Amino acid sequence: MSWSFKLFTIKGIDVKIHTLFILILVWAAYRWSVTTGEGLQGALFGIVATLLLFAAVLLHELGHSLQAMKYKVKVSDITLMPLGGVAQMEELPKNPEQELKIALAGPLVNFAIVAILVIIGLVLQTRSIISLNELVASFGQTNWAGMLAYLTMANLLLGLFNLLPAYPMDGGRILRSLLAMRMDHSRATRIAAVIGQGLAFLMGLIGFISGQFTLILIAIFVWMGASQESRGVVVQDTLREIKVRRAMVRSPHSLKVNDSLSKAVELTLSSAQSDFPVVEWGTNKVIGMLGEAELLSGLKKMGDGAAIREVMRANFPTVHPDDALHTTLEKMAKAKIRAVPVVDDDQNLIGMITASDVNEAYRLLTVNPQFVSEPQS
Ligand code: ZN
Repeated sequence: MSWSFKLFTIKGIDVKIHTLFILILVWAAYRWSVTTGEGLQGALFGIVATLLLFAAVLLHELGHSLQAMKYKVKVSDITLMPLGGVAQMEELPKNPEQELKIALAGPLVNFAIVAILVIIGLVLQTRSIISLNELVASFGQTNWAGMLAYLTMANLLLGLFNLLPAYPMDGGRILRSLLAMRMDHSRATRIAAVIGQGLAFLMGLIGFISGQFTLILIAIFVWMGASQESRGVVVQDTLREIKVRRAMVRSPHSLKVNDSLSKAVELTLSSAQSDFPVVEWGTNKVIGMLGEAELLSGLKKMGDGAAIREVMRANFPTVHPDDALHTTLEKMAKAKIRAVPVVDDDQNLIGMITASDVNEAYRLLTVNPQFVSEPQS
């Protein structure tokens, strides 16, 4: 079951909220009523303050999302979790300038909110957020001044915290895109990850020395985020660099449309192949794919005398030898298949590539980078 439910849709983005968020509200109500000693009024203040805080988190995520949508990136939803917001978007552009603008958009929203709150403070002549002393003094008061002070501080901290140059914070992405303007993407990611981990280590150390448990927790969170992100990006970038021709199986066993299923059974048993490109009679043009699933259901329904054309998959993706492995994996995932025929511009069969070929190429590459490097031609 899903633990989040939809609140509303804005610009085609579903805004969802995690069920555990209710616990945060209960906790906020309790905390404020106890620490302020104002009972119900304190509890109410806590709930309103928390809801407004999460509205700020939502606006922050919307900042990223709307900026990303300008670059044609699809954003499906934003989920408000107990620890913040998560915007679900498809892969971000590799253009460092666009990445930079998307990453900056979030924190900038928080700073814009701070500016608006300061103006409201000036208009209402609430001195609380203009002088630091009064801000501290108003903090924790369950009145308008207290609310303004709380939201101003919260937005300031949200903006600043997200600018820390470490994944998964926006600052990590900002740093990476700035580096990527000067070097290649995977190198930029690795350097940004090292800086992020260094920062996490420092935070953990300070937390340890000062005995601040929260800081240690944040440090662990940042450390893990930095290493995970860099690993993911490095894998993706590597797969983007390797071309299909370096990993494909040349001259795979193929079937003809008029062959019977018994031919497919024979080939499956006598070879290591379980997916077969199906070519047109008398030519080498690929017009179908026959996988284990199609073969088994065909055998069950029609017996082994049936023709391949009756059971083959006629809708299937193909790749070109010069396509990147990354594209191949994307096509496989989209079509939910494990093998794709490699064809030339005229749809003639050149080879076949499977998910395990991609894995193998990646593993070989990490051992010996020369293996998949493109020969100069
Ligand atoms: Zn952000």
